[in-house]
Amino acid sequence: MPKTAVKSKIKASSSVKISKKMVYFFGGGKADGKATMKNLLGGKGANLAEMAGHPDLRLPVPPGFTLTTEICTYYWANKRSYPKGLTQDVEKNLRRMEEITGKKFGDADNPLLVSVRSGARSSMPGMMETILNCGLTEATIPGLIKLTNNPRFVYDAYRRLIMMYSDVVMEKACGIEPADDQGIRRQLERLMDAMKKKTGATTDTDLTAENLKELTVQFKAKVKEVLGKEFPDNHMDQLWGSIGAVFASWMGKRACSYRRIECIPEEWGTAVSVQAMAFGNMGDDCATGVGFTRNPGTGENAFYGEFLVNAQGEDVVAGIRTPNPINESSRSDQSRNLKSLEQLMPGCYKELAGIRAKLEKHYHDMLDIEFTIEKGRLWMLQCRVGKRNGPAAVRMAIDMHKEKLAKKEEVVMRVTPSQLDELLHPIIDPKAELKTKAIAKGLPAGPGGARGMIVFTAAEAVKWKKEGKHVILVREETNPEDVEGMRAAEAILTARGGMTSHAALVARGWGKCCIVGCAGVEIELAHKTVHIGGEVLKEGDWLSLNGSKGLVYKGKMDMLDASESNELLSEFLRLCNSVRALKVWANAESQPDAATARKFGAEGIGLFRIEHMFYGKGSDEPLFQLRKMIMSKTLEERKIALNALFPFMKNDIKNTLRVMEGLHVTIRLMDPPLHEFVPQQKDKLEQLGQALGISYEELSARANALHESNPMMGHRGVRLGITYPEITEMEARAIFEAAAELNKEGVKVFPDIMIPVVSLEQEVKHQAELIHKVYADVYKAKGVKVNYMVGTMIEIPRACLMAGKLAETMQFFSFGTNDLTQMTFGYSRDDSGYFLKEYVEKNIIPVDPFQTIDQTGVGELIKITVERGRKTRKDLKIGICGEQGGDPASVDFCHNAGLNYVSCSPFRVPIAILAAAQSQIRKPRKNKAV
Ligand code: ADP
Ligand code: MG
Ligand code: MG
Repeated sequence: MPKTAVKSKIKASSSVKISKKMVYFFGGGKADGKATMKNLLGGKGANLAEMAGHPDLRLPVPPGFTLTTEICTYYWANKRSYPKGLTQDVEKNLRRMEEITGKKFGDADNPLLVSVRSGARSSMPGMMETILNCGLTEATIPGLIKLTNNPRFVYDAYRRLIMMYSDVVMEKACGIEPADDQGIRRQLERLMDAMKKKTGATTDTDLTAENLKELTVQFKAKVKEVLGKEFPDNHMDQLWGSIGAVFASWMGKRACSYRRIECIPEEWGTAVSVQAMAFGNMGDDCATGVGFTRNPGTGENAFYGEFLVNAQGEDVVAGIRTPNPINESSRSDQSRNLKSLEQLMPGCYKELAGIRAKLEKHYHDMLDIEFTIEKGRLWMLQCRVGKRNGPAAVRMAIDMHKEKLAKKEEVVMRVTPSQLDELLHPIIDPKAELKTKAIAKGLPAGPGGARGMIVFTAAEAVKWKKEGKHVILVREETNPEDVEGMRAAEAILTARGGMTSHAALVARGWGKCCIVGCAGVEIELAHKTVHIGGEVLKEGDWLSLNGSKGLVYKGKMDMLDASESNELLSEFLRLCNSVRALKVWANAESQPDAATARKFGAEGIGLFRIEHMFYGKGSDEPLFQLRKMIMSKTLEERKIALNALFPFMKNDIKNTLRVMEGLHVTIRLMDPPLHEFVPQQKDKLEQLGQALGISYEELSARANALHESNPMMGHRGVRLGITYPEITEMEARAIFEAAAELNKEGVKVFPDIMIPVVSLEQEVKHQAELIHKVYADVYKAKGVKVNYMVGTMIEIPRACLMAGKLAETMQFFSFGTNDLTQMTFGYSRDDSGYFLKEYVEKNIIPVDPFQTIDQTGVGELIKITVERGRKTRKDLKIGICGEQGGDPASVDFCHNAGLNYVSCSPFRVPIAILAAAQSQIRKPRKNKAV
């Protein structure tokens, strides 16, 4: 076999470890393997073994055997050869298949035909290869015709074998990369189209035995002409050719790029399963289909599936004919008038529905299944845990827990943070949708909304995305070659295909907005135009999609953030809440943000930055007063400005405290980068000068004096409070008065005052004394107690090391991991973007430490802080309020480090809640936190 162009990273060596058992049998109610052996048998092989052999299942599965993934690794490490003894093992297992089926591989009278199937540890839809009907030769064809009395079926199977084999084994596995549309499969398809045209057939099922027979002769000639080799006419050659090609497909271009996107290591390898054929193409009492035990788009507890009568293998998924629904709940607009399996073959449907229930009970999850009916007899060909989108995942988790099908820990572990994220996804503004007429409707295959410019090829999608454009990939039907383009697109729209088509499957896995089988879409690739419901649109035109309903709109519509009061979401979060130990708080500095955070389940505010009242709407007056304060030179001047600032600050704090009634609100003392607040425009400066009663020149001089060459390390944070204690005093007074007044009204509030940018114990001592003194004054004046704490932000490495000392006066710590990361690495938060990107690409650092806590370095400092701090003060409350607080890996770290809470932006609260629950299930900790 010629070498492929593909190079493997798997090291060339004959020392690859191979277990003694290389082949696992399944069938006849028994199996060597089981579902948990995915690493060795691949997902498909492991589940075939489970379905065939587990005593609770023992489903009708055609017998077969699986070659382990170790053999794939060996194959690539040893110049594409096999370990010793494999040939004999395969033959032994073939004999067992023959015993069970009563047929014989290669036999002239009663031939056994097999499929050769790929299967990696985690499913890679459509990325690798499968060859069906292996074993059909000049020697076995006449016998099979005689036996079945069905020459049409035999030649249909034969033409399929030639198509698949020449494509997979003789072309792809040999590293031949033909130009677009010139692949052998396309060439053979064109011959078939010509035959259909000549005979007036509309679909492939209209072709007669004679037509198909003639076609196989044409096929073989074409294969010889294009590939320069004969199509092999020996059953054993076909079998080993197919096995080798499946192993080879692991290094195929598509498989490699899919692995890169999904982070699947090359070392895993694929297994190969050889299985007796079940024929769905023997006539009208035969069929092949695919299904999901629940609706994968909505999560609804309804059996969902599609099938085709008289068809084989991928016909359903490939969209050559519109598939029939298996039952009423699977019916779509497209299949409105088609008979269901329930109507056509009620017995088989009943059996299938029974299997569905058995499988769900056994796996405690929603499954994706493949089945084939041969002359009224049902055969199961595959099952695996089904891909689903976020809303469906959450719905199924809740339902399966209620149905007592699965424990709450199980269902909580099953929803990924990114799936939950989909429930928080943008949608097209419903108001805009009401006013706009959809130009087409297809199947809702991927949720949420999206808008983008039309592109027609995967390559364009990738290119445009690189240019920073948002695109929608519009295709007749996607195929596995398109994955990178699908990834790059905001959304995918296809003219053909059902809910189980390639586009739908892949998009669903990624939680991407996707509409398939949109009958109103007609693409003219040559002109780069598309007709959609009477409109003619061209490349670059805008489209908006509602992937949850399958609606297509022309133009660029308004988008909305996801609804916050989603019932499903709250129900699921309640489940998470009942298991987690780590608390989840939010960073919020305004009343509306705090309200959002609370709705999402935040249990406190971990960061309320006082200076944020000087940004945005309504901030003109307080900002002016702040600037006056900054520009003041004497204590007198500063006090006047502070007094003017006071009512604004108190009001702001009061609003947020009120929203967070009953919960802690951590208010950080002012940490303004002073120079940022100095006005730039001349007129503003003049105005300020007037208010202070000084000249423009004097003011400019003061502004210049404030200039710092390194403001991030300058006169900020606690340093400001030490040099100007009156600032801290004013802030503390605003907080205590607001809190006291609310408490008096009966609104119980818990303000925690946090001192920023600390590195010395004397700093916090000084500030704490001041704050306690202000409290004493306020208490004396108002006579109302306030339940408050004083703590510090930990954001400088020195503070970490001094934690034991700091805890003597501080009642809580909160890690400001943005600054802590900046100071630990010496990377500027604001300027590190571009080199960090390269660092990550070159694998110098695994991830951007500003997104995910650097567990080995910064994490070590955190651990030291927790240990030293709690040694001094046993009940020291510790949290994190940096950006990383909403990142699942960082949440997991915080859980294990024994923190009390994580605090993140309101929209990440649900994700943090899920991550915290999963951490507790993975590694339970005793203290259920404060
Ligand atoms: P994939 O991983 O792409 O799903 P499969 O190995 O499942 O590939 O096979 C492709 C198609 O061929 C599927 O529709 C499957 O049901 C069908 N198929 C595989 N093996 C057999 C068999 N022994 N009999 C009938 N159909 C089969
Ligand atoms: Mg396939
Ligand atoms: Mg399959």
